[in-house]
Amino acid sequence: MTLPVRTTRADSGHMEDPLKRLRALFEEISPLIEGYTSKVCPSCEDVCCKQKHAYYDSEDLVYVSALGLALPEYGDRGLEEPCEFLSVSGCSRPRWQRPFRCTWYFCEPLLRHMEEGPGRPYRRLVGLLQEIVELKGKLLGSDRRPRG
Ligand code: SF4
Ligand code: SF4
Repeated sequence: MTLPVRTTRADSGHMEDPLKRLRALFEEISPLIEGYTSKVCPSCEDVCCKQKHAYYDSEDLVYVSALGLALPEYGDRGLEEPCEFLSVSGCSRPRWQRPFRCTWYFCEPLLRHMEEGPGRPYRRLVGLLQEIVELKGKLLGSDRRPRG
């Protein structure tokens, strides 16, 4: 499930460094998302953080390569087992280093909780996510909408 984020071409006028800006956006959006997940996820019976989601896709790899980040050393867990980066307090990796799907995915109960809550933080989250999508498209040289 995805949020109502419009995909438009980024305004290059204020994109002096897309990588730095992306990191700043991930750092700003992270506590907003965690404010919601901390309420909904503890009672989840089918946690979405599976090992198969720990791996970068081809678009993530462009981003990671541009950042000069080394790939994590993955263990040998089965794809349907809990993600090896999942700790008792949530994901152990900084959001800006996670696969993009880790920020993009919102299950139905989570989305419902977000929509039913105060409008201001929800709108801020949608706005940040929209800017992340636009910058990611700029970085990849496309306006492609990411897969949820
Ligand atoms: S985001 Fe949804 S599916 Fe994933 S752990 Fe939280 S409640 Fe469960
Ligand atoms: S958010 Fe973290 S723990 Fe969850 S799938 Fe992504 S990398 Fe793994």
